[in-house]
Amino acid sequence: TTTIGKIFDLTVQKYPQKEAVYDVRKNLRMTYSEWNVEVNRLANALLHEGVKKGDLVSTYLFNTEELATTFFACAKIGAVFNPINFRLMAEEVAYILEDAKPKVVIFEKALESTIAAIEKRFPKSAFWFIDEDPPAYAASYHHKVKTSESTAVNAEVSENDLYAIMYTSGTTGRPKGVMHLHRDMAEQSLIVINATKLHPHDIGLVTAPMFHCAELHCAYLPRVHVGAKNVILHQFQAQKVLELVESEKITKLFAAPTMWNMLLQEDLSKYKIDSLTLGLYGAAPMAPALVRACQEQLGVALVQAYGMTEMGPAISFLSEDDQLTKAGSAGQACLNHEVRVVRPCEDGPSDPDDRMPPGENGEIIVQGPCMMTGYYNRPEATEHALYKGWYHSGDIGYLDDEGYLWVKDRVDDMIISGGENIYPREVEDILYEHNGVLDVAIIGQPDERWGELVTAFVVRKDPTLTEDALEELCKNSEKLANYKRPRKYIFVDELPRNASGKIQKFMLRKQIEELYSENQP
Ligand code: AMP
Ligand code: MG
Repeated sequence: TTTIGKIFDLTVQKYPQKEAVYDVRKNLRMTYSEWNVEVNRLANALLHEGVKKGDLVSTYLFNTEELATTFFACAKIGAVFNPINFRLMAEEVAYILEDAKPKVVIFEKALESTIAAIEKRFPKSAFWFIDEDPPAYAASYHHKVKTSESTAVNAEVSENDLYAIMYTSGTTGRPKGVMHLHRDMAEQSLIVINATKLHPHDIGLVTAPMFHCAELHCAYLPRVHVGAKNVILHQFQAQKVLELVESEKITKLFAAPTMWNMLLQEDLSKYKIDSLTLGLYGAAPMAPALVRACQEQLGVALVQAYGMTEMGPAISFLSEDDQLTKAGSAGQACLNHEVRVVRPCEDGPSDPDDRMPPGENGEIIVQGPCMMTGYYNRPEATEHALYKGWYHSGDIGYLDDEGYLWVKDRVDDMIISGGENIYPREVEDILYEHNGVLDVAIIGQPDERWGELVTAFVVRKDPTLTEDALEELCKNSEKLANYKRPRKYIFVDELPRNASGKIQKFMLRKQIEELYSENQP
């Protein structure tokens, strides 16, 4: 059977002397055999702490060698890996710890105040901190690791054992823990290796957050699987990314759409980035105009991944060859996956057999080998999400007659104005075509007459950009019906985005509500 621990061991056997990781912040480089020693030491340290197969180990860390090491140490002993978003605040972290009940929590010293505020509420969990400059302090991760033996652990882990519980961002309601088995990720990894043409000589840059499955499963893990190298940058920073692409001769990287956009704002003539052969984008919608700009200005081949934590995450890829002819599409279903578009149901999960004809919008549902086993402690939500064995995504889209998937938007973000359905993404994609636009979000503003009014939040690249210029662009667009045009523009300095790059539209709606109520007499 294939487990995540087995995948690691096989690579160590094959490439002991090959450089495996480079942690930029610590300026630490390790070969696969050196890394294996670290992984084994941590695995033994966790066993000493009393961690048993099936127990959870949480991380609350930036992208670090320690997070990378914890990932495989857990896999080797059959502990369940639980990476927590480092941007969450104390009560949000507490909510997850309450639900997950981890045996050990490994946290960043820089995030200590968050942990200090809640630690006492979890007397059954051990808290280990990562110090940038490790002291010989008993509660520190590094002390535990240094004082543990490096012998390989002897644990029985099967492909049907739980590998991880990952909490979804929870923009709607409380975060839910998505449960994945070892075999889910072994499969996902193979699918990604194939779609991104990974080779042992590839050098990948880890810069999107590793706690999120897009970076973890569509970039980091597959690279270890084939014996490639991971350069780990603790947080995304555009100049640093470009410097590293040049100095480390990075060949592949995953970045969320906002990150690609930030790279384009830099003076690219200052960097030599021709080692970069493939860029992966996804986790949130990326406007075709932005994809085009990346291709032209960065000169890099792009592949899109579309998916969700519940599915491992990737369920479809838009290959580099399809970027021009199918611009804006999410591509074709991953190997061994079936994607369907079905009639959305008002009062319950949609019926998997009530399929929409090609070209017609409906709910995107999917089946595949990397599907979650369910939500931790949430039987009802699981039953709903996995109704009749299909994962119901809550995304709207259609399949064209060649089987390409076009993702319109989230069901919850759709605007209904004057009885017409409007998908914000369509409007956002048009506004992105304007050179003076840096970032944009479309939401529906409650309106007595029309139900909702199409409202645009715009971040300007060019400070002289006017509402009239955008209005002109929309009016002249062949792709935008009159009723979809924004009726109101709000210029802002920044849009609220979560760590995986998704715009937090609920915050914009709140902003509108507040504006609204202030104006009431
Ligand atoms: P998460 O579980 O945090 O990865 O969020 C999954 C959601 O992100 C999906 O249901 C989509 O709404 C959105 N998403 C992910 N990838 C893409 C993509 N390539 N294009 C558009 N939306 C995406
Ligand atoms: Mg989701």
